[in-house]
Amino acid sequence: MRLENQVALITGGGNGIGRESALLFAAEGAAVLVVDVVDGAGQDTVAAIEEAGGQARFVHADVSKDEDCAGMVEACESAFGKLTVLFNNAGIMDGNDGDSQATSDEVWQRTIDINLKGVFLGCRHGIPALRRAGGGSVINTASFVALMGAATAQIAYTASKGGVLAMTRELATIHARENIRVNALCPGPLRTKLLMDYLDTEEKRQRRLVHIPMGRFGEASEMAQAALFLASSESSYVNGADFVVDGGITGAYVTPE
Ligand code: NAD
Repeated sequence: MRLENQVALITGGGNGIGRESALLFAAEGAAVLVVDVVDGAGQDTVAAIEEAGGQARFVHADVSKDEDCAGMVEACESAFGKLTVLFNNAGIMDGNDGDSQATSDEVWQRTIDINLKGVFLGCRHGIPALRRAGGGSVINTASFVALMGAATAQIAYTASKGGVLAMTRELATIHARENIRVNALCPGPLRTKLLMDYLDTEEKRQRRLVHIPMGRFGEASEMAQAALFLASSESSYVNGADFVVDGGITGAYVTPE
């Protein structure tokens, strides 16, 4: 098994990438602390892991709150004795996030607080735990929009993900000699609730699909496979990377007809 003796904390583990990663990491031998603000969803992930014979616990935490992030790391160490894989994955995309004129202060702040400050707080409390365990892997979920501009504006979201990417490189550099690797996962557009709620008409979905060489949205399970590689020792020399998993979007100039 690829994550034997590992303990993973996954934020946003109730849905999408976080849920699929929790299921996969547990199947590969990790004990998993599932963190979410929606208790039912997080508990459901834990139930699915336990049903498959894996080990998991749920903790309610809002990643934008310092005390919640301290609590989730404490809960992980007290339940499983250590933390070796920190997956800062929770994020939101607000339907009212638009261009620089349309986006309200409130939408800007909420998006930055969860998507960017949430990763910072996860690292503030999680990295000391990784250190106590003798090292480990941090995975921060950014996005392909941190690398490319889009005419369909979501300015707060894009800024938050750019911040995650820049912060990841710096964390990777700071902690490299402590046996702690830090990488950013940059997913392309996925068929998860987050994006499908945002692209709420067939016309909006088709407008996005035009730009994807593979002609389809990605699946959360495909991101989980990439996260598994970053979590495991198979990626032992991968550090500070923008790990792009986007169906070829960032490589394309013109897509096939
Ligand atoms: P999702 O909406 O399916 O799942 C996100 C989970 O995070 C939910 O269970 C939600 O309850 C939880 N969450 C939200 N706010 C939280 C908070 N403050 N504290 C703790 N948990 C919270 O979304 P997803 O598509 O799986 O997205 C996961 C990550 O991937 C996000 O960071 C997102 O920005 C990023 N991403 C998604 C896409 C996409 O197309 N779906 C593309 C690129 C990047």
